[in-house]
Amino acid sequence: MTLKKLIMMPVQAIRAVYAALLPRTAPVYPDSPHFDKVKARFVNPQPMSGVAFKDGLSIFLEMLQGVSQYGPKDPLPTIKPDWPLFLQDDDINRFIWFGHSTLLMRVGQQTIAIDPVLGKSVSPLMVNMRRFQKPAAAVKEWPQVDVILLSHNHYDHLEEKTLKQFAGTSTRFIVPLGVGQYLKPVGISAERITELDWWQSLDHQNIRYTLVPAWHNTGRGLYDNDKSFWGGYIIQQADDTVYYSGDSTYGPHFAEIARRFPNISLAFIENGQYDRRWPNNHMTPELTVQAAADLQAHRVVPIHWGAYTIAFHPWNEPVQRSVPLLRQKGIQPLTPYQGQVFDKNTVTEEWYLTLQ
Ligand SMILES: [Zn+2]
Repeated sequence: MTLKKLIMMPVQAIRAVYAALLPRTAPVYPDSPHFDKVKARFVNPQPMSGVAFKDGLSIFLEMLQGVSQYGPKDPLPTIKPDWPLFLQDDDINRFIWFGHSTLLMRVGQQTIAIDPVLGKSVSPLMVNMRRFQKPAAAVKEWPQVDVILLSHNHYDHLEEKTLKQFAGTSTRFIVPLGVGQYLKPVGISAERITELDWWQSLDHQNIRYTLVPAWHNTGRGLYDNDKSFWGGYIIQQADDTVYYSGDSTYGPHFAEIARRFPNISLAFIENGQYDRRWPNNHMTPELTVQAAADLQAHRVVPIHWGAYTIAFHPWNEPVQRSVPLLRQKGIQPLTPYQGQVFDKNTVTEEWYLTLQ
C-alpha cells in the first residue's frame, strides 16, 4: 500500500461518515403513485418489515466477526473480455458479467452498462465487504458506453468512483425517480439523466428501456432512506426482450412483468446476499427460481454474487442451490465466467462447483 493510499483511507472513511450523517434535502415526487406524500418517501405496494430489533443485535455481532470467511479461498477466475466479439457487427445481443450485479450489454449496436461497480469495497467505510478479485476489465478498457442504467442507490449498485469516470463523456443515464440527485455531485449533468417511474419507458437509439417493479428500498446515509426509488429494467430491441431484476424480494410483480412483457429471452435475476433476518431485501435461491418461473424467462443468469460478500452465506451457495432447481423447471441457467462474452445461446461452465 502506498503512503498516499494509507493517508487517504481515514480521509475517505471520515468523508463517508460525514456524508452519511449530513441531513439532505431530497426532491419530492407527488405525482408518482409510488411516492408517499405524507412521509415524503417511496413505498412498495405492500408495507415491508425491516430487520427486527432482536435480529439487529445478532447481525451486528456477526458483522463484528466479519464476512471474509464466506468468501472464496483464492480470487475467482476471470477472463479478459474478447472486445472484437463483443462489438461484432451482427444482430446477436451479447453480454459481459463483471461479478455481483455489474453488466455490459451490446444490444442493437449500443453499449449499455448496468449498475457499474468495480471498486475494492462496497462498504461506505471501505474496510469490509471487499472485492474477491480485480474486475475482468477496468472502465478505461471498456468500449464507449452509450447508456448507463442504474437500479437503485445502494453502495453495491451505485459507485461514485466508477461513475465519475463518465463525467466527461456523452453517456446517457436512465435511473429510477430521485436517483439523479446522486449523479449531479459526480459530474453528470441533469440533461444527460432520465428518471423513470415504474412502467415508464424511454426510447433511445431504437431501444426501449422500461423501469419495472422490484420490491426493495434505498439509502446511502441516515437521512435518505427511500427518498429515491428502485426498480429493474426491461430492455427491448427488435424482437428481443432482456430483463434485469435489480434488487428485489419475491412478490407478484414478477408475474405482472411477464404478463406485460411476454417472451423474455434472457433474465438477469438477483441470487445472493440473502438472510432469514432480512427477508424483505433479497430472495433466497428458491425464490429466485420461482421468480424466474413467474417471469417465464427462457434462460436465466443468476447475479448479485461472485464479487462481494455482504451476507452470511458461502459465496457460491446461491448458484449451488438455484442452478439445479432452474433445470428442474426447464429453465436454462447461464453461469458465465466474469469477463466472458456470452449471448443467450452460449453454453456456460459450472466453474464455481470446483472452487472453495
Ligand atoms: Zn439493494
